[in-house]
Amino acid sequence: MKDTALRIGGFKDSIFGVISGLAREHSAVNLGQGFPDFDGPEWLKDVAYKKMQEGHNQYAPFAGTIHLREEVSNYYNKFYQLNYKADSQVTVTVGATEAIYVAVMALINPGDEVIIFEPFYDSYLTSITMAGGIPVPVTLHAPDFTIDRQELAKAVSSKTKMLIINNPHNPTGKVWSREELLEIAAVAQKHDLYVLSDEPYEFLLFDGAKHIPLATLDGMFERTITISSAAKTFGMTGWKIGWLCANKKVTNACRLVHQFLTFAVATPLQEAVAEGLARLPEYLPGFVKQYQGKRNLFYQELKNLGFNFPIPRGTFFMMVPISQKTQMKDVDYAMKLIKEFKVATVPPSAFYLKSTEGEKYLRFCFAKKDETLKQAALNLKGL
Ligand code: PMP
Ligand code: GLN
Repeated sequence: MKDTALRIGGFKDSIFGVISGLAREHSAVNLGQGFPDFDGPEWLKDVAYKKMQEGHNQYAPFAGTIHLREEVSNYYNKFYQLNYKADSQVTVTVGATEAIYVAVMALINPGDEVIIFEPFYDSYLTSITMAGGIPVPVTLHAPDFTIDRQELAKAVSSKTKMLIINNPHNPTGKVWSREELLEIAAVAQKHDLYVLSDEPYEFLLFDGAKHIPLATLDGMFERTITISSAAKTFGMTGWKIGWLCANKKVTNACRLVHQFLTFAVATPLQEAVAEGLARLPEYLPGFVKQYQGKRNLFYQELKNLGFNFPIPRGTFFMMVPISQKTQMKDVDYAMKLIKEFKVATVPPSAFYLKSTEGEKYLRFCFAKKDETLKQAALNLKGL
């Protein structure tokens, strides 16, 4: 048989699937892959069911149902005074994952360079590779995961076309400050770069932290592609409803890719998410309180186990330093925890290209029932 395509030659199985598989195999508590082990709100499931009963079951318009695009447009306006037009600037995708792929495919030519901050979300790399682009990593330096300005300046070349930022940040839980975002914006404007701003954890913020969509900064609306998803906000990662917002020209380009990749996204689920977004103001306070409780609970458990690190202010992840406990590298230590302690975590070296910093950490997901988090802590007692 002939060879498979060269462009996928360097791809490996996603670390998330690998870890979930190992967790099942070893009957370990799974704090690896980022998904809740409980369902999203009952009322939202009821809405989805009602939408199916009402006959929203055929192909949606390829850009997304009008209802969902309008609600996406409304919430950006309501929460951030950001004006994306439902008809020409909002596109519904199969999760943020498709949105990322679509944006990169629509904008990157072979040989173009794309700056990514490591640790990065794994699909950035594969999307860039599929487009023939070249990923250029810039390290977020521990313990606060900050940028080195000079390193960023050096990473930009005449071939740089895009920069990808994720805020709030998976896996570190970092919430980028306005000053940091302004630095990114300055670099993007100076070198005329697109910025893909991946913001699916925009509502998972604690201790009063505020989300600043990059597109709201002066001069950034036109060059930013804002991406988000219903997965985390409604605790329904399996629904895979995401969206991409950008200026009209970029939207048109992205829609061309989306049209021939998936064409349209699950109609009743889009309709349900539209209602969910409309109800965000009532829904969010309880949602954030629930996750802040989980964060506090698990942070305390890890502290009791002897792990010391800054408390994350966003997402449902904790990047936990293991060098306080072991000389082992992340992958080996993660395997030890799965096999001997029955707790699965993600070894973050999978999220780095340049630095070996990730070897000194494990990523824990705390989007789990309180009893799951307590069981994990109990399993880890012997550490
Ligand atoms: N970006 C980041 C930073 C993520 O953590 C994830 C995983 N949820 C995604 C994108 C993909 O989101 P979705 O599940 O909506 O495809
Ligand atoms: N975003 C999730 C994580 O970071 C995983 C999503 C996936 O498995 N594709 O764990």
